[in-house]
Amino acid sequence: MAYEYDDQNIFAKILRGEIPNTTVLETEHSLAFRDIQAQAPEHILVIPKGPYVCFDHFANSATAEEIVDFTRAVGQVATALKVDPGTGGDGYRLLANSGRHGVQEVPHLHVHLVAGRPLGRMLR
Ligand code: 5GP
Repeated sequence: MAYEYDDQNIFAKILRGEIPNTTVLETEHSLAFRDIQAQAPEHILVIPKGPYVCFDHFANSATAEEIVDFTRAVGQVATALKVDPGTGGDGYRLLANSGRHGVQEVPHLHVHLVAGRPLGRMLR
């Protein structure tokens, strides 16, 4: 079955410049911006610019260049926020809600990068 991408979703509108955002990082294939309802002092959404609904869509359809760019963008956001544990920062959590059971609200692939306070345990 083919993946169906709704180009009227909020992040598509952000990418087209129809809705403002607070950009933290922009690369050729990715955009990182602040979540409008932050759950922690740092709450960033990292998205690929391409029209991908979820991780499996991205992994199966994106170019290697897009995948590398996106992966690096996530890491670069952590570095820019100085939360990168590899260089002495306090760390962060990555989360990608996908589909109905994952309670994905916006149907454009996004990774939440959450940081700035102790986040507690998940998935015990
Ligand atoms: P999901 O549940 O799909 O993983 O999360 C979607 C996220 O997008 C939510 O955390 C929500 O606060 C955020 N969000 C929804 N609309 C907007 C918007 O217009 N601008 C920004 N920056 N974030 C949004």
